[in-house]
Amino acid sequence: MNFLSAKHSVHIEICLKPTENRIEALEKLLDAPVREYIALANVPLGQSLKIDETIIAKNSTLEDLRLVECILVECEAKRSGELLTETDLQNLILHFFSPQRRVMELETFDIETGDGADGDAVPASSHWLLPSSSFLHLWENLIYEEGLKEKLVKFALSALTFSQHNVNPHIISCNRLLLLHGPPGTGKTSLCKALAQKLAIRVRRTYRHTHLIEINSHSLFSKWFSESGKLVMRLFAKIREIVMDPHNLVCVLIDEVESMAYARDCMSGQEPKDAMRVVNALLTQLDAIKEHPNVLILATSNLADTIDLAFLDRADIKQFIGLPNVAAIKCIYEKMLEEMMRIGIINEQSLKETDRHEGLLTALAERSIGLSGRALRKLPFLAHAVHTASSDFDMNRKIELSDFLDAMLAALE
Ligand code: ADP
Repeated sequence: MNFLSAKHSVHIEICLKPTENRIEALEKLLDAPVREYIALANVPLGQSLKIDETIIAKNSTLEDLRLVECILVECEAKRSGELLTETDLQNLILHFFSPQRRVMELETFDIETGDGADGDAVPASSHWLLPSSSFLHLWENLIYEEGLKEKLVKFALSALTFSQHNVNPHIISCNRLLLLHGPPGTGKTSLCKALAQKLAIRVRRTYRHTHLIEINSHSLFSKWFSESGKLVMRLFAKIREIVMDPHNLVCVLIDEVESMAYARDCMSGQEPKDAMRVVNALLTQLDAIKEHPNVLILATSNLADTIDLAFLDRADIKQFIGLPNVAAIKCIYEKMLEEMMRIGIINEQSLKETDRHEGLLTALAERSIGLSGRALRKLPFLAHAVHTASSDFDMNRKIELSDFLDAMLAALE
């Protein structure tokens, strides 16, 4: 199976509403209506959009599209926001999916590292069946320089194609290990999750189920206690069970992988030997699991310099994820403001309507250089508080866009 498609292929991801019907049946039923709709509706690329009801109302053949939650159109050769041309319509590849809404049973995965009293302890591992409703729209809302996300998808699909074809590892090296590194808060973990979700949607015909298993190395090693060794073994026994079924694709996400190396180098205190054993066991287990063709390892790191070399060497791609540039910041702000309009906190108004808005937004973006995506995402909330403090509080009154942009600037200061 070759998962890669030509550069001008147009991928249509169709997210279905929950129904009793099997996805295969819906795929047959909706193929023609989706193609007809795409030709009629001028759907802009890169945005997940609901079906336009007015188009359904005018075309009785599109009635079944009421089963669709939203549609995302993507084409590698085009920028987001662009429209499709007549020729593009000849190259549509449809991917239907129905997001999993249930939370996976965590019993065997729930390696509690907290001491119980710690309210915000991060669990050491989590498990999702993909595509999951938890990660809907995550991909579109992660903004990087043009082509970066697409490059990662292509890498992952190439790696899976190689392993599907049983490439001889002594001739061609491909470890199916991808490392994202860069400053904290730049969306590395989110990008790994969004990538796994994208793969789940794109490879559905080959892998019936895609699992995402997140191992949070930091919480695994920071709050040390002697049970961890056993728990790591149990975790991997469970992963192995899932991997054994060739219909499963298993993405293992290792967050903050540097904490493993750190744990090895800097161990002091009570049980260094024990700790060392667990890190070594984890690396060995990872190596073993990686031998299976249906496993993809995604790792993130805030400090690539300190990662265990043994681990670093195996990565096929080491991608640096930096702080967002002005264009990305502007795009993130635009999406946040649109969301504030959608929920009715800001008065509905086009951002491009007046030069003043455009100017304020640009000034805001320029002053935000150096902030991480995580910091940017907090600004609307802070701005709202600033605005509330400076006006009579009325929960139902919508804020004017220009007032809110001013408040964002003030909050930034
Ligand atoms: P990291 O793993 O790099 O520390 P996270 O994945 O935890 O970062 O991201 C933190 C938050 O910041 C997420 O909510 C994410 O959506 C947001 N974020 C970070 N970078 C970006 C970006 N480039 N575009 C959009 N959102 C971003």
